Amino acid sequence: MVYRNLAAMDAALADCRACPRLVAWRERVAREKRASFRDETYWGRPVTGYGPADARLLVVGLAPAAHGGNRTGRMFTGDRSGDVLYAAMYEVGLANQPTATHRGDGFELLGARVTAPVHCAPPDNKPTPDERDRCRHWLITELGLLAPTVRSIVVLGGWGWQALMPALTEAGWEVPRPRPKFGHGVRYSIAPARDDRNPLELFGSYHVSQQNTFTGRLTPAMLEAVLSQAKSAAGL
Ligand code: SF4
Repeated sequence: MVYRNLAAMDAALADCRACPRLVAWRERVAREKRASFRDETYWGRPVTGYGPADARLLVVGLAPAAHGGNRTGRMFTGDRSGDVLYAAMYEVGLANQPTATHRGDGFELLGARVTAPVHCAPPDNKPTPDERDRCRHWLITELGLLAPTVRSIVVLGGWGWQALMPALTEAGWEVPRPRPKFGHGVRYSIAPARDDRNPLELFGSYHVSQQNTFTGRLTPAMLEAVLSQAKSAAGL
């Protein structure tokens, strides 16, 4: 499917029902809700990427959280992981305010877009390999639509890193062999495989999951250091 721009792609993506298990889960969570959000109307649909269509920096996570993005309808909005990510993006000048709580809160990303290889909240935050592969075409399309401007990518976590590699290849970049290895703070240069693609700088960071941030495995300073390097590599 060819989309004329990101807005058109996002409109189609928000209606996707290709994964029966994830459709059932996201809608069940939206119906049953967490007690503390019982008065809210959950989004309960695929969560699109967020940020300007001419972003120079792309952040790639894993999938929306059941009571975060799946509730608010915006990537990394309304949960603790997003609180950590967006506070760090604000600190390095990639967001206009440090907090994002709901759509319409005025939060904007500056020159950056945030997306995920899987766009529906999975049970236990674990998509199956089939679900990951089924959702890949959205990421390939998003990378293609961002190709005129995107110059660096930050991947949060090893799962997203592995999911991104085949998408990069299919979207027109030359992923080195052997494949770049994930780690916190790693950086790789990715060459274009087509004339209409530009070189990319690829960065790895531990995921902003509570498991990592509560234990201090990932500190705000560590995340800000990676984001800052990626921002600079993107010419921002
Ligand atoms: S995970 Fe992706 S492919 Fe599967 S239903 Fe959601 S948007 Fe569609």
